[in-house]
Amino acid sequence: MAVSLLDFPVLWNPKETSEKLRVTEQTLAKWRSTKKYSLKFVRSGRRIFYNAADVLEFIASRTGTETTPTRQPSEHAHNAGLAAMHQRWHVSRNIVNPNCALCQQVSQ
Ligand SMILES: [Zn+2]
Repeated sequence: MAVSLLDFPVLWNPKETSEKLRVTEQTLAKWRSTKKYSLKFVRSGRRIFYNAADVLEFIASRTGTETTPTRQPSEHAHNAGLAAMHQRWHVSRNIVNPNCALCQQVSQ
């Protein structure tokens, strides 16, 4: 099977890659050593390169509509949301909802 030069990957050095990803070269070095992110790289002798296609894939894999929560929402944030819901749906309508903790607190 013939290899076409068109298939030859576009290789970026760390400087070029860092500019594309808007990070520093130090950050890229850290990613390589910690494997924190799955950004593939090419080792050619003592030099490091990135395949442009891999960088694009990396960006695509990290594109989402929301950030991944790194921890569970705090109890406080949960209660704040609950209080807002209780205020809006129960207090303002004079409803006591048996499933609502805040309604139960008031009625007891
Ligand atoms: Zn309520």
